Formats: sequence, C-alpha cells, structure tokens
Amino acid sequence: MTKRKPVVAANWKMNGDRRLVDDLMNTFQGSAIFQQVEVVLSTPATLLDYSQQQRQNACPEIVLAAQNMSHLDSGAHTGELSAQMFKEVGCDWVYCGHSERRHVYGESSKLTAKKFVQAKEAGLVPVLCVGETEEERQKGKAFSRLTSQIEAVINLAGKDCFEGALVAYEPVWAIGTGNPATPEIAQEAHKFIRGMIAAMCAETADSVRILYGGSVKPENAQALFSQPDIDGGLIGGAALKPEQFMSICQAAVGQ
Ligand code: PEP
Repeated sequence: MTKRKPVVAANWKMNGDRRLVDDLMNTFQGSAIFQQVEVVLSTPATLLDYSQQQRQNACPEIVLAAQNMSHLDSGAHTGELSAQMFKEVGCDWVYCGHSERRHVYGESSKLTAKKFVQAKEAGLVPVLCVGETEEERQKGKAFSRLTSQIEAVINLAGKDCFEGALVAYEPVWAIGTGNPATPEIAQEAHKFIRGMIAAMCAETADSVRILYGGSVKPENAQALFSQPDIDGGLIGGAALKPEQFMSICQAAVGQ
C-alpha cells in the first residue's frame, strides 16, 4: 500500500489581509512540519501575488491554491479569473466545487467538472470538493449525492481523472457550524469515495489523497486524521489563526 503524505489545506475564503499572510509565514518559517505534511495556503485571489512573494522568501514548501476559477480560457467574462492567470501568479492547486460555490452560487456538478478538467489541462492540481447536505444525509441520500458529484467528473474527464488530483469530503452540514462529522461518519464517506475510485483504477485509489473538511479544530483533528482513509484536512475558520492551523498540521504528523 502507498504511504500517502498527509495534506493540511487552508481555505481563507473571503477573509485575511497581508498581515495575516505575514503571521502565517512567520509561524511556519523553518518548521520541520513540511517534511511530514503538505501544507497548502489558499487566500483570496487578491492576496495570492503577495503570498507567492512571501512564501518564496520564507516558506517555499507551502503549496499555493486558488479557491475557485473559471472553466474558460479567456474573453468577455467580467469578474472571472482563468487557470492560466492563477498559474502566472504562482498557484499550484485549485479547489473545484467548494460547497459555497455549489450552494451559495448555484454552481452545478457539470460546471465543477469543467473546472476540474480546465485545471488539469493548465497544470494546476484540482481538489474536487464533494459533500451532502443535512437533508440528504437524513434521507439516506448521502452516498448517492457523493456518487453524482464524482460521476460528473468521471463522465467528462475519464476514468483516470483522479490521477494527479485530490478529493475533499466536506459535508455541508459540518462546514462552519462547529459540528464536525464524527471520525466514523467521515471514514465511512472517505472509504466510499476511495472505493468509487478503486472501481476504475486500484492504483489511483491507493495513492489519491482524500481530505476531510468541516469544523476541523486542533481538538478534533487527530481523531479525524487517524482514520485509515482520511489523508488530512481542508480547514476554513481555524486556518485564520496561524497557531491553530499549525496545531492542526501537527495532528496530521505520523498519520
Ligand atoms: C471550508 O471552508 O472548506 C471549511 C471546512 O470550513 P470550516 O473549517 O470553517 O468548517
């Protein structure tokens, strides 16, 4: 079995400023954590250029991610940003289909799949975010929701689409609520996702990193990350506090 390097990824959403970038870099500069954990920073798009400069100075190990991007190359799309633009500013990864994109901005699984393909073609690593709502879980439809979100990508990108990509399982009911999935519920969903990928390619399923997101805090991170199919986390609120984010990274060590 492949030893998967854990990932702890920050999602600052529409928060943060240059000072917070500096604080984060100061907290992580020279840390041994990078040997064991892949640490990802995703700031608002306006801070990426500054973050790129600062990471080059202080923490070149940090992976820089965009929170969202257009599925198109260029043209008359006011307010949109392309994969190529994120590449130019230094991004390595991009989140595709974050719950807020799907549920607040009405982005479909088909559109998310197009973004996923666009990212790969541009040389950005896509992190496909999937997750069910509370209602879907209560009605016993959690796995069918995950299936449809993942199948939308497979249908467009093909059976080997998760090679060189990541998945983040983020139940909508757990994001920003202070109410994380239990380690058992999260593990069950992660195992299901890995199983879907294994049905197409056992090797990819063995190596693909599947992150858990939804109210991860220093207190609950270790119990979640120690589950066999959980390879780290996507962190919102707690990533805005560099010390807390560091503690969450430390909880991923040795998993
Ligand atoms: C997220 O934004 O992806 C997230 C998981 O947020 P939080 O950690 O605040 O629940």
